[in-house]
Order: sequence, then structure tokens, then C-alpha cells
Amino acid sequence: MSKTYDAIIIGAGIGGLTAGNFLAKEGCSTLIIEQHTRPGGCLSSFERKGFNFDAAVHWISQCGEDGVVYKILQELGIERSIEFVQINPLMEVITSNGRYIIPKGRQEAIAYLKNTFPKEAEGIENFFAIQGRITDEMYRLFKTDPDSMNTLSRFLFNAVFPLRFPNIARYYRKKGADIVDSLVKDRDLRRILKIAAIFPNVSMMMLSWFWNVIYNADGYYPKNGMQKVSDVLTENFKRLKGEILYNKKVAKIITEDNQAKGVKLSDNTIINAKAVISNADARQTFFEMLNGDAGAPQKYLDNLKKWRLSESFFYVYLGVDMDLKGSSVNPIMWYFPEKDNFIGIGIPTLSDKGLAPEGRHVVIIGAFGDDLARPWFEKEKMDKEEYKKWKEKTADSLIELADEAIPGIKKNIVVKEAASPLTFNRYTLNSMGASSGWSMDADEQNKLPQRSPIKNLFLAGHWTFNPGGIPSAFMTGRKAAEMVKKAIVSEK
Ligand SMILES: Cc1cc2nc3c(=O)[nH]c(=O)nc-3n(C[C@H](O)[C@H](O)[C@H](O)COP(=O)(O)OP(=O)(O)OC[C@H]3O[C@@H](n4cnc5c(N)ncnc54)[C@H](O)[C@@H]3O)c2cc1C
Repeated sequence: MSKTYDAIIIGAGIGGLTAGNFLAKEGCSTLIIEQHTRPGGCLSSFERKGFNFDAAVHWISQCGEDGVVYKILQELGIERSIEFVQINPLMEVITSNGRYIIPKGRQEAIAYLKNTFPKEAEGIENFFAIQGRITDEMYRLFKTDPDSMNTLSRFLFNAVFPLRFPNIARYYRKKGADIVDSLVKDRDLRRILKIAAIFPNVSMMMLSWFWNVIYNADGYYPKNGMQKVSDVLTENFKRLKGEILYNKKVAKIITEDNQAKGVKLSDNTIINAKAVISNADARQTFFEMLNGDAGAPQKYLDNLKKWRLSESFFYVYLGVDMDLKGSSVNPIMWYFPEKDNFIGIGIPTLSDKGLAPEGRHVVIIGAFGDDLARPWFEKEKMDKEEYKKWKEKTADSLIELADEAIPGIKKNIVVKEAASPLTFNRYTLNSMGASSGWSMDADEQNKLPQRSPIKNLFLAGHWTFNPGGIPSAFMTGRKAAEMVKKAIVSEK
């Protein structure tokens, strides 16, 4: 009879790798199955002509010694295997009127904004007063875990929530951008206050949290590139006797009496397990791997179709032969052209010069990609040549904008690559190339419970936490492992 694993994990994203590490550490026989040729999902890198490009992620928060990512790595004993460089200052905004660099420290950031926009001092004070109250409550809220409460405790927790956390209750559904517009008038100041959250429609609660990240410079870059984090987790998993398969796609989750029993790969191989964790795209998990009819209530499935996805991006990856040290103090900046939407520009070589050949730099340009890419997702048949031309043209238009912010990059390009939402979709299988699971918009903010409606099927990763992102993937990975451990023990 073939082997039955304690757990099979679908996907080697950060959620899957973290879950795998904690299970293997507990002595559970664990198999991770990954459809791509390398681990990491969104947290991966690729090489071209001596340049090391991060495929998606620009910075990771919570990597300082009291951050949750650091603590999880510490629990696994691998925190010293990755050198995190703090990105300080974390935010730089460029507009046609000037260049704004937000210094580290809450008081310093507020003072900088008030000095730069003296007529708006009162509005700035008011914005940060609300922001501070919300953030204080969020720190208190993080110390509780409603998911682990029994029904009565959760009922009581929910009943007194507005009393214990009045600012969160008040601003949870209010759009941060609307609050900004109601408090200040200056166009550049509005842009600065809103861009901290990157996503335009987030709640005031979320915007407040992102400001906390910005003024604490809680953004880190792992030396040797983003792939390093995924590689360290993978090596540790293997050291703990975990097994990992690449280039293998899970086609089905096998269930019996509404209980997960294993998986079937696209080459028809069947592998059995006592429990399954899906780190894969939520819609794919329920509508493809489970056919949409294996035990999940209709309301649950309707929500999966109805809930909006987080935004996807169009990226341009450049290797440039020019010295960029003088053109920016910051590895991440936001540029607002007069006639276009904003773009993000990352220069990771300012954090780690080893990512490029001596004297050269990596420049990554990003813009929201959903509207641009939607027609391609909707096409029944893809004309590959036409798509290639579109991708090239879109990349060139972003390079033109980036060249306004950093004059000279256009004529110094030595390597050029691009990724559209279709590319992100192909490499991660996330629906429409969604970057962070479900939408963070104030009127959405959904997340799936990690215990699925199918017995012994658990979920890990950005579909189970809002906001998605790397810290969420780490946290939900650890929690999925705990849930599996309990489920397996209770069946013995
Ligand atoms: C362009 C972009 C920029 C971002 N920037 C940041 C940032 O700066 N900071 C930050 O914190 N977050 C950022 N994020 C978000 C963050 O990267 C993700 O939220 C996080 O990496 C998600 O991790 P995950 O483990 O949930 O899933 P994923 O990384 O999506 O991993 C899922 C894995 O499952 C595999 N898989 C899927 N289906 C199958 C199957 N059927 N069989 C086998 N394997 C399968 C996929 O190949 C993939 O490896 C960004 C995301 C994108 C796309």
C-alpha cells in the first residue's frame, strides 16, 4: 500500500512553506507539492545576465526583532540565516512640485509634513490624531485571537467590541482617502497621506496601520533578494525531513464522506494524507480541485465568486548601467506624473548592491495592472504575438514615466523584462494575478476561515487574512500547522 502522509500541502508559497516547517518540526510526515520549478510563490526571484530580480515583493514588514515574521523564523531557529536590511526612510514621493521623503519616527514624520505644508498643519494634526487612536487599538486587538475562542466568548467579545475598540469600530468601513480629503486640501499632501497604503480604496483603519509601518520604517529587504527567504524555509523544511515536489500540479483534492483524504496530481498520481492544507488560490481550491460540489455550503461558494480580488500589477524589470546612488536616497519611491496614474519604482540594489554586476542597478517599475490586463483574461483565444506586442508597448510607456522620475534610466537599459497580471497568474495560479488574496477595499476586507467546510482540509496564505501580504502568509502558515496537528492527534 502506498504511503499515507500526515499532511500534504498544496503550494510552496510562504503560507505553505511555513506550515510545512512547523509540521515537520513536530515530526509529522509532510509533503509539499508545487507546480512551479522553485519555491516561494509571489516571494521569489529570477536571474537575467547577472541581475537578480525580485518577481513581486518590494519589502517585508515585521522583520525587526519584535516583529511577527522575525519571531516565526526564530521559533524555527532560522532567524540568523537571513540578513534583513531595514529600509530607512521607507517612503519617498515625487511629484512635479518636488520630492518628499518621510523620516523615521512618528513625531519626526508629523513635524516634517507640517513644516512642508504649514497651511495644512491643523489637518495633519487631526489626521494623525485619528491614526494614532486607531493604531493603539489595533495593537491591543492583536493580543486577542477571536478565532480560538469558544462560541460564548466570541459572542461576548463581539458584543463589547465597539466599547473596547471604538475607533476601529468607527473607521473599519470608512474609506481612508475620504478622511484625507475631508481634512486637507493640498494635492501633494493628499497624495502623500493616501499613498502610504498603496491600494486606493482601503479603510481608514488600514491606512492608519500602513502609516504606522511607514513612520516606524517597518519595511525590510533580505540580503541576496526575496528568493533567499523562501530558499531558507525550504532548506530547513528538507533538513527536518520534509519532502517537496516541484513541477507537479495538484488537480484534485480527494474527499470521502466530506473529509480530505489526499490529492490527485495532473499526471493522475494519487497521494494519500490524513490532512491537506491548500496554500493555493481560493477559487481554484474550491471550484477546480473540489469541483465546487464537495461539501462546501452554497453561501460559502457564492462568496468565493462574489468577493472582489485584490489588485494585480504590471511590472517592468530593468538592469541599468548607471550610478543611481545620487538620484535617490530610497530603494522604494512613488512617482505621480502630471497626466497619468502613479507608478512605484523599486531600486533594491540600494539595499543590496550584490544583486547586480559592479556599478549597475536593478530598477523595478510597477503600476496597477487589472484594467490593462482584463481584456486579455476575457479573450477566448489568445493571439500570442499580439499579447507580446501589447506587453512591450505597456512596458515602454512605464519606462517613459520612470525616466521622468529618474532621468537617464531609459538610455542606460542593459536588460529588460516585463510581467503582466497574466504572468503573475501563470506563475502563482492566483486568480487574475491577484497580489494579496481578497480585496482590501473598505467595503470588502474579506478572509476565509482557515478551517474549511471539508473535514481535515485547512487553508493557509493570503486568502485567509486581510490584508494579505508576507506577514499574513507566515502567520496563517503557522496556524494551519497547529490546526492539522490537533486534527491528526484527535483522530489517533
Ligand atoms: C506584484 C506583487 C507585489 C507584492 N508586493 C508585496 C510587498 O512588497 N510586501 C508584501 O508583504 N507583500 C507583497 N505582495 C503580496 C505577497 O507577495 C503575497 O500576499 C504572499 O506572497 C502570498 O503568499 P501565499 O503563501 O499566500 O501564496 P502564493 O505566494 O500565491 O503561493 C501559492 C503557491 O501555490 C502554488 N500553487 C497554486 N496552485 C497549485 C496547484 N494546483 N498545485 C501545486 N502548486 C500550486 C503556486 O505556484 C505558488 O507557489 C505582493 C504580491 C504581488 C503579486
